[in-house]
Amino acid sequence: MSIESLVKENIKSLKSYEIPDISCPIKLDAMENPYDLPEEIKELVREKISGFNRYPDPLSNELRKTIASYLGMNKEEILVGNGSDELILNILLTFKSNRVVFPTPTFAMYKILAQIANSNPVGIPLTDEFELDDEGILKATADATSIIFLAYPNNPTGNCFSKEKMLRIVEESEGLIIIDEAYFEFSKETFLSVIDSYPKVIILRTFSKAFGLAGLRCGYLVAHPELVKALLKVKLPYNLNSFSQIVAGCVMENFRYLLQPQINQIITQRERLYLFLKRLNGIIPYPSDANFILFKTTKVSANTIFSDLVEEGVLIRNLTEDIPNCLRVTVGSEQENNIFMEKLDRICRRY
Ligand code: PMP
Repeated sequence: MSIESLVKENIKSLKSYEIPDISCPIKLDAMENPYDLPEEIKELVREKISGFNRYPDPLSNELRKTIASYLGMNKEEILVGNGSDELILNILLTFKSNRVVFPTPTFAMYKILAQIANSNPVGIPLTDEFELDDEGILKATADATSIIFLAYPNNPTGNCFSKEKMLRIVEESEGLIIIDEAYFEFSKETFLSVIDSYPKVIILRTFSKAFGLAGLRCGYLVAHPELVKALLKVKLPYNLNSFSQIVAGCVMENFRYLLQPQINQIITQRERLYLFLKRLNGIIPYPSDANFILFKTTKVSANTIFSDLVEEGVLIRNLTEDIPNCLRVTVGSEQENNIFMEKLDRICRRY
């Protein structure tokens, strides 16, 4: 008996999730918030840390109340997870789907988690302008129980899809639709209000981006209470540790005063980076509603630009395998962006 024969068929073809081990002083590859937590929040957290000898609240009640009041919703409409990744997996384990449909390119975990859940992932290519093929998505979901994932703004293209196309999919498709608003705080565009009229819509958000807590692994979803009840049957009892529950609550309670200025700064920097990239010879940037910018290289290969930047101490994301000659840069602090711009400008002049 071989060990290989013990592994489920749907798992055999998967690769383990690995990130290339490249460390650079300037890290602009993962859409993280470039700023550490404000001191005021750290102080609040210090006052609250005790009781780690006990299991965490399995229902994360305090945090769900905080999120509910932040959004003007009810606690019963909120579920928290160990990153939104965990929530995506739980959605796929809870609800029926012969197909998991998403546009391509998009966030890689929809496909990977669909394969893990033994469903059938179906990618429908975006148009050349990175717009949804609403017709194609509706066709793919017409004859099967489906779950549709739509990242809004989309990763890695950075754009919000047309509202009309999104609403058409919401109105005309059967089955669940997950609108992943991981970058909402940068786009300020949301479909939260549609869940009252369309209980099959789930809104997904995360603390990993604007809230600056990527290391704590905390995401949440907003959905009809009946959907939340079903998801609670699948959720592991203690999915979110006590520390993450405390910190996420403190950050959200203070978001408007202490973190919103950081977000405004990142949006200003995004516009500055976009204009800079637009002026560079051999670079075509795509407009972004998120905290990152996708750009294409036209004179030199993306692989060359990527490795030259790494040599200069700047790490961005090389997407050339998914979108030929495309790279993605996360908007950093003003100082980090200055270094990125100076290095990239110099590299582009070389060729
Ligand atoms: N959704 C999208 C669209 C993302 O880009 C990411 C992270 N890159 C996530 C979800 C995952 O977020 P989390 O850290 O909450 O698992």
